[in-house]
Amino acid sequence: MKKGVPAADFFVNEQIHDKLKGSEPAISGGIALTCPKCAGALIIDGKDRLVPCKYCGVNVYLPDDLWLRLHPVEVKSRWYLVYDKKEVEKIDFDK
Ligand SMILES: [Zn+2]
Repeated sequence: MKKGVPAADFFVNEQIHDKLKGSEPAISGGIALTCPKCAGALIIDGKDRLVPCKYCGVNVYLPDDLWLRLHPVEVKSRWYLVYDKKEVEKIDFDK
């Protein structure tokens, strides 16, 4: 890094690990849900957001909170670059 940005002193990471959106952990395995039309059992495997009911044929759209539990969004970590003030003062920005 010093080679490309000589004035850079060090990196600061606000978060070391990527965190998942929301505090609830991701669900693994199947989930049982009832069909809003016929109350038949829907088995959600997490592959598709639109789940057809095997009893009445209606397509059930999975709600956002359930979909996010099945597919958590990774949050990028913020990072900072700390400059050496003495090195920055040496830089000729007009060059
Ligand atoms: Zn149904």
